[in-house]
Amino acid sequence: MIKINEHYTEIGNNYLFAEVARRVQDYKANHPDKTVISLGIGDVTQPIVPAVIDALHKASDEMADAKTMRGYAPYEGYDFLIQAILKHDFTGRGIHLEADEIFVSDGAKSDTGNIGDILSHDNYIAITDPAYPVYVDTNKMVGREIELLPCTPENHFVPSFPKRPADIIYLCYPNNPTGTVLTKEQLTKWVDYALNHHSLILFDAAYEAFVSQPGIPHSIYEIEGAKKVAIEFRSFSKTAGFTGLRAGYTVVPKELIAQTSKGEVLSLNAMWKRRQSTKFNGTAYIIQRAAEAVYTPEGQKQIREVIDYYMENAKIIKSGLEKIGLTTYGGVNAPYIWVKTPQNQTSWEFFDVLLNQVQVVGTPGSGFGASGEGFFRFTAFGNRENTLEAVKRIQSLY
Ligand code: PLP
Repeated sequence: MIKINEHYTEIGNNYLFAEVARRVQDYKANHPDKTVISLGIGDVTQPIVPAVIDALHKASDEMADAKTMRGYAPYEGYDFLIQAILKHDFTGRGIHLEADEIFVSDGAKSDTGNIGDILSHDNYIAITDPAYPVYVDTNKMVGREIELLPCTPENHFVPSFPKRPADIIYLCYPNNPTGTVLTKEQLTKWVDYALNHHSLILFDAAYEAFVSQPGIPHSIYEIEGAKKVAIEFRSFSKTAGFTGLRAGYTVVPKELIAQTSKGEVLSLNAMWKRRQSTKFNGTAYIIQRAAEAVYTPEGQKQIREVIDYYMENAKIIKSGLEKIGLTTYGGVNAPYIWVKTPQNQTSWEFFDVLLNQVQVVGTPGSGFGASGEGFFRFTAFGNRENTLEAVKRIQSLY
């Protein structure tokens, strides 16, 4: 008899974006003459920048020659990429990390989802609500107890501390889906909370590159003491259009320690290394060369132009919706615009109105958690033409 992990029965069948895709497919099948514009799933639309494409070609050619071809990559990533990460993402911000504190991966989804492998199922988890669904679902999959921390206009999207001391806290800033950020002072309070309660912060900084205002941290390690309490996740997906190439990295500082139930102290860095070397066989060489190229002067200039392009879309969406009286949040330091649904519609009601009446797709806020009910997320990752057209269509409704 095959016995399943019954926790899977508690998470429901439909991953949010699968349900959105299903409804859109049904609509298209019944209305083949209509053009649907999607500002829904947070996927990028602009081509990979030339510096990265050149690196991909060059690395591919190396694979064609016995003298330069590469097989399995190191589990933690190639040193050429780790050195580029350290120099550009941390040293320049006054953060000192060592090479063996960086773990290159195939993206932040795997790492935010897999990090729980090295943590006991007994941990009490705090997760901001709404949130990227991976945090809640992966904890439910192993039966961990979760407290949700509502982030709403009433608390200016700044989560309060959990009612019960949390062992592990998920924070994602700039935030998906609300597009909001924490200031350095606000994040410092969370680091202090974690230091005082011996908690671990899992800090998802997948959207760090979109921070445009001063005083907003790009990394949690900008905060004093964070190396003792935080793991940080980074992704090349939105920073450099790698959603289809797949690369990210996770920082696990060596100062981070945790305990066994008998009180034995262990290093999370050593445990994550052990986990990765057992379950992960490295990110492809050509992809790591592509990621390295993101950090060259041309790569930086080119990805900045693409990020600016998306942030101009964000401005168009935000101002276009505000013009018709909708209340919006985010969209300044993040590529997401979080909108209060009009006339107190539920998130899915608004989804259906937009799809059926003007053929625009967004993501229902309730799919990100109970506190997202009555909100709707638009992404700035469309192309300019579609973004302008989508805003025009929504404006025609109101
Ligand atoms: N973390 C957040 C908050 C995200 O929104 C996403 C993707 O949408 C990811 C992680 C996953 O990124 P990756 O493509 O690197 O797996």
